[in-house]
Order: sequence, then structure tokens, then C-alpha cells
Amino acid sequence: MTAAPLALLGARTATGELVDVAIADGRISQVVPGGTLPATPATASRDLTGYVLLPAPAEPHAHVDKALLADRVPNRTGDLAGAIEAIEAIYPSMTDDDILDRARRAVSIAIAHGYTQIRSHADCGDTHGLRSVQALAQVRKELGGLVDLQIVALMRASTTGPDGANQLAMLRDALACGADLVGGAPHLEPDPMRAIGQFFDVAGELGRDVDLHTDEETVASTAGLAEMARIVLTTGFPHLVSAGHCVSLGVQDEATARRTAEQVAAAGIAVIANPQTNLYLQARDDVTRKPRGLTAIRVLLDAGVTVAAGSDNWRDPFNPMSRIDALETASLMVSAGHLLPDAAYRSVSDAVREAMGYEPVRIAPGSPAHLLAVQAGSLVEAIAAGPAQRLVVRGGAVVAQTTVTTVLHPALVPVTA
Ligand SMILES: [Zn+2]
Repeated sequence: MTAAPLALLGARTATGELVDVAIADGRISQVVPGGTLPATPATASRDLTGYVLLPAPAEPHAHVDKALLADRVPNRTGDLAGAIEAIEAIYPSMTDDDILDRARRAVSIAIAHGYTQIRSHADCGDTHGLRSVQALAQVRKELGGLVDLQIVALMRASTTGPDGANQLAMLRDALACGADLVGGAPHLEPDPMRAIGQFFDVAGELGRDVDLHTDEETVASTAGLAEMARIVLTTGFPHLVSAGHCVSLGVQDEATARRTAEQVAAAGIAVIANPQTNLYLQARDDVTRKPRGLTAIRVLLDAGVTVAAGSDNWRDPFNPMSRIDALETASLMVSAGHLLPDAAYRSVSDAVREAMGYEPVRIAPGSPAHLLAVQAGSLVEAIAAGPAQRLVVRGGAVVAQTTVTTVLHPALVPVTA
């Protein structure tokens, strides 16, 4: 889709400048001081006075096939085992249309909130087969003009157990019928290290990127992340690698965590923190001094690792919350992850693009015009308030706009959200 020329007028950047932005052929062509961009008849314009203009967010780790199930499938224990039990209980009775309908609705919400690129895992293997992969491939086809959707084949059955050969065959089938990346959850396998090696073998053979659920438990001895780094460094694995969660790194002693982080940096592996889900799922057995379930964000950043942040579960048994909004994830990266607001926003935007292999976005000439305008006076206010009023531009085209009208009693002074 080639978008018509577009001008975004009078927005404030994250660093506070008032600017007019001209967009042509899907890219930013000019950024000039606010009020100075000459009007041209062929260019549509949007007045963004009172808005902050940001690189659009991207989602590095979602489970679109499970989205919007929280009301139907409660997690009785609130932990990871309870979530898996809940999802397995409902899968046999779930129709293909149900998966497709929820996925379509959830991705639509994400687009409206500003996501222009999304990576979603799709359960596959065992009796579930390829249904989730096929549903997400259909959503990608339907909404491809509005969002880029990467699909990770997430093996939900063991590849190192007695039926491992069949499950690995199904992983190959998933990659042949719409999945882009190899995924899995080795820490749940009978032989985690062997499973990691298998996933890399399949990805190397088929030329695919890898995104594994990694060490999603508060057990310091779990070392899947270090094994991933070892494989990349010893084999020269040439494709992109992401490690999601990496919770164990956050409970290891500092020296061990820093050693691993240096290897992860050397291997070029991106780490994806999922603060909301891991704050919800982990450490439920501890009633005091609870580990936070977060990876060691500062240690990873110090080592030079790309740290992206995802929302992971969009209202399902693994996390019944989530507004499907990167500003919510960024807020958690400030309050729970202890990042400054600009670094927190980078973790949900350009750090994600690095992990996913996309071109960076800047408010500067030449940049892809994937932009989010939020009605707020600053980046901090946008992250804190998460205002509903937004304009989303992807590839230079307006793909979503949300407007809200608030009417207060005349006796009250006007406020903004
Ligand atoms: Zn996940």
C-alpha cells in the first residue's frame, strides 16, 4: 500500500520540541519547527496540537491465539502450572472460528493502541496440531495492510519425550504452513538442554529465526539462556535469536548473571522481558520477600544486550490483565523494571524492532513513518496516563484514530485525563 502524502502538524516530540512532520512514500521526508511547514494541496494534514509524537510501539511477545480468554478460563492457582492446566482444559472444545475471532479482535485492539509490528507465538503440536498457526496466518492475511505479524511456532508438546520425533515433524509442518520462527519452552521439557539444541538444529536447517520461552522460573540454577549463547557462539548460528522471560537470570547472584549477560551480548541474542505476566505468575509460593519474576534488566543493559519488553498474554489464564497497550508495558518497565521513561519506551519500540529484524524508526527524515501520536504533553505523561486519544500511522498511512469526548458538570473545572 502506497500512502498519499501526509503532514502531521504541531506535535511535540519525546524531547519536547514542537514540530511539523511531512511524510511521503511511507517515510518521513521533513521535520521542521512547528507552524513552518508550507501547506500543499495534494497533502492531507492532521493537527496534532496537544499530542506527543513517538516512534510506533512494536510487540515482541504476544500469544494472540489465547487472547481474551480470561473470563472463560480462570487460572485457579494463578501460577504457570495453573495456566497451562486451564488452557489444556479448554483446547479440546475450542473451535477454529473461536481462535480466529479472538485473534482478530485482539490484534485490532493492538493496532488501535499503536502497534505496527507484532510477534505472536502460536501453540502447536500434540492434539492441538496446527490450528493456532493457521488462524494467525489468516489474521495476518486479513490485517496485513495494517500491521506486520510474525508468527512463532511454539511447541506445546515435548520434543525430548517419547513422542519427540512426531512433535519435531509437526514443528516443521508449522513452519511450512505459515509460522515464521522456531519457538518452544525448553525449561518445561524433560531434557531442556537437548530441546534447545533441537530447536536450533531445525531453525538452522530451515533458515529461520529462533524465539524461545527461556528459563521462565525463579530457579537460579536454570541456565537455558547461557546454553543458547553457547550454541550461537560455538556454531556461528546466523539467524536472529530472542530469549523471552529469562526469569532465572533475575534471581542468580550478580557475578553469575553478569557472566551470562556478557555471553548473551557476544552472541547478539535479544532478551524479551514480559513484566506483567511474570509479576503475575511467578513466586506465588513465597509470601514474603517475593522475587519479582523479572529478568536482570540492568545487568543485561550494562552488558550491551538488546532488552525489549512485551505484554506476553492479552487477558488469558497466564495473565488476566493487559490493556494490550505498549504504554502499559512501558509503565511497568519504569515502576517494576526501574528504567527511566525514555529507556522504557525504547524497550517497547526500537529495541523490539532490533529483536525482530525491522528497520529503526526515528522522528527524522528518511525514517519509516511508523508513528504513534498520543494526546499528552510529554512522553512521561503518555506512559503514565496511557491516554485513549491516539493517531496511529503505519507506512505513512493513518491506520487508526481514537477520539474521546469527556463532558464534566459545568460547575467543575475542565481537566484532561
Ligand atoms: Zn509467552
